[in-house]
Parts: sequence; C-alpha cells; structure tokens
Amino acid sequence: MTDSLLIFTESLGEIRTAEMMPLSCISTFRTGGPADTVVFPRSRAEAVRCVRNAVRYGSRYTVIGNGSNVLFDDAGYRGAVICTSGLSGISFSKDGTVTAECGVPLTALSSRAAEAGLSGLEFAYGIPGFVGGAVFMNAGAYGESISDVLSGSDYYDAESDAVVHVAREEHGFGYRKSIYTENPGRMILGAEFTLSQGDPDVIRAKCSENMESRRTKQPLEFPSAGSVFKRPEGHFAGKLIEDSGLKGTCVGGAEVSRKHAGFIINRGGATSSDVLELINLIKEKVRTDAGIELECEVRYIGEKE
Ligand SMILES: Cc1cc2nc3c(=O)[nH]c(=O)nc-3n(C[C@H](O)[C@H](O)[C@H](O)COP(=O)(O)OP(=O)(O)OC[C@H]3O[C@@H](n4cnc5c(N)ncnc54)[C@H](O)[C@@H]3O)c2cc1C
Repeated sequence: MTDSLLIFTESLGEIRTAEMMPLSCISTFRTGGPADTVVFPRSRAEAVRCVRNAVRYGSRYTVIGNGSNVLFDDAGYRGAVICTSGLSGISFSKDGTVTAECGVPLTALSSRAAEAGLSGLEFAYGIPGFVGGAVFMNAGAYGESISDVLSGSDYYDAESDAVVHVAREEHGFGYRKSIYTENPGRMILGAEFTLSQGDPDVIRAKCSENMESRRTKQPLEFPSAGSVFKRPEGHFAGKLIEDSGLKGTCVGGAEVSRKHAGFIINRGGATSSDVLELINLIKEKVRTDAGIELECEVRYIGEKE
C-alpha cells in the first residue's frame, strides 16, 4: 500500500474498509484480483468524504455500483474502490417524483414504484445494476432507457468541493452514454425520476413479463456482465457473433453463451484474461466476417483504464 493510500484510509475514520478484497466478490462476472482497499460509505456525506479525501491525499480511486457492467483486471486495483451499496435511500413525493440514492438496485426501485402506482421504470426491472451505474451507463431495455424518466442527478465535484445538480437536458445522454461516461471521476450520489400514475397491477404485470423474457433469452444461471458489446448501428451484436459461428466458443472458463451470443459467461474458474482474450477473438472474427467493428459496453477497470 502506498503512503497516500494509507493516509487516505486513515482519514476515513469509521467508514468501513476492506483491505485486499478480491474484486470477484463484487463483480457479477465473478472475476478480478484484489483491490488495495474497498470502501463502503453508508450515506451521501460519507461518500463525499471518500472522494474528497482520495483527491486530497492523492489516492487513486474508482466508484462502482453492483459491478454488473465491469471487468476487473486479474491483478486487481491499486488504490481505492468505492462501493456504493450502502447508499440505498428512496423517497417518493406526491407529484410522482422518486428520489433514489446511487446504491439503490434498479429492480428494487422499479418494484417500489409499482407498489406506489408509478409507471415508467418497468423496463428497468431485472437490470441488475444500481441507480448510479444505470445513470452513468444510461441503461436501457425494450426501447426505453434511463434518459426517458430521469429528471436530474447529483454528483460530487472534487474541484469545487461541492455537490452539483445536473438537470435532465444537461446529461448529454446517448446510447449507453452520459456526461458521466465522459467524466468518469465524478461520483453520482443520487438521481430523481419523474414517473406517471398507473394501475399497480398493470405495472407489476409488465415487470413480471420483462423478467420472464430475460429468463427465457438470457443465461441468467451463469455469472456474466450482460451484453458485452454495444449494438452496432443497424445490427445486433449477438446475431453477428452467432453468424460468425462463435456460440459456445471458449477461452479457459469464459464462454460465448449458447443461449445468447451477446453474453460471455463464466462457466466456472474464468479469469478476466480469459474474458479479454475471448472478446478479442470475437472482435477479430466479426471484423473479418461482417466488416463490423464491435465496441465493448462492459468497462474494464484495472491498471490501464
Ligand atoms: C444479466 C445481466 C443483464 C443486463 N441487462 C442489461 C440491460 O438490459 N440493459 C442495460 O443497459 N444493461 C444491462 N446490464 C448491464 C448492467 O446491469 C448495467 O449497465 C447497469 O446500469 C450497471 O450498473 P452497476 O451499478 O452494476 O454499475 P457498475 O457495473 O458497478 O459500473 C458501471 C460503470 O459505472 C460507473 N459507476 C457506477 N456507479 C457510479 C456512481 N455512483 N458514480 C459514478 N460512477 C459510477 C463505474 O465506475 C463503471 O464505469 C446487464 C448486466 C447483466 C449481468
């Protein structure tokens, strides 16, 4: 551990930390080596303190949600991984606005909205990310995305040492893109969603239908990070991979899912190097066969990011 990281962890006081924690424990791929330290803030104030002190003491850091769209390096992470699972507050206001902290699971948010008779987040039911990760990625499904329902988000800006509110139109949203993907050091603390009134039974039924569709089409019985590649314009990555005959192709414990070729699954014992090698193999074959350059949706976190 470097001196700056040591000073940083000591400055955190009662905030829980875990030294040399395997990142495979906090990634849905179940791969990745140990992080020097993983930090678990439980409130917005603690989260701000983590980022402020990391910057102040020169410690390298990254922020993660549920780790459902990341690939951690086998060598782990030198620095602090700030894990947001402890920021799980949700509040509803009478006008249909829902405010959620960054560590709220999307499925829980969607469920709570359904109970309250609020429609708009049915598409998010079953996406295994947290609110922060979903805003960062502009997560979406079934033709809808976070940008359709988000009214604003808050992030901590270390430069001005202030919490900044970002209005919907300032998010620069695109396909799996937001102002945060362009400025990855910013920690999203929470977000507001504007939903519409609806019948709780109808909303719940839509959520169940979406979950059933995921169970049928996706290899949910294996660890993965969902679709590995972004959808190339006018194509589906899964179809291109299937057309290249790559379903079932393995590198070590990593396999192109036979159920959904857009997914790489961890069949057991996969390393992140296996996954990276398989990604490169897929990209090369699809480039040769279809002349299309696949771009990763999954974000690599390690020494080179
Ligand atoms: C089985 C499966 C199905 C999936 N289906 C879908 C789908 O239908 N649609 C879809 O869009 N995605 C899908 N995904 C991918 C993933 O769930 C989403 O991208 C999700 O939004 C990621 O959220 P997360 O909390 O896990 O983020 P993480 O994976 O933890 O992080 C993703 C990125 O966001 C950053 N980040 C996370 N939280 C914060 C924060 N608070 N502040 C700043 N930066 C932050 C991280 O640094 C990282 O760069 C699926 C994944 C799996 C495993």
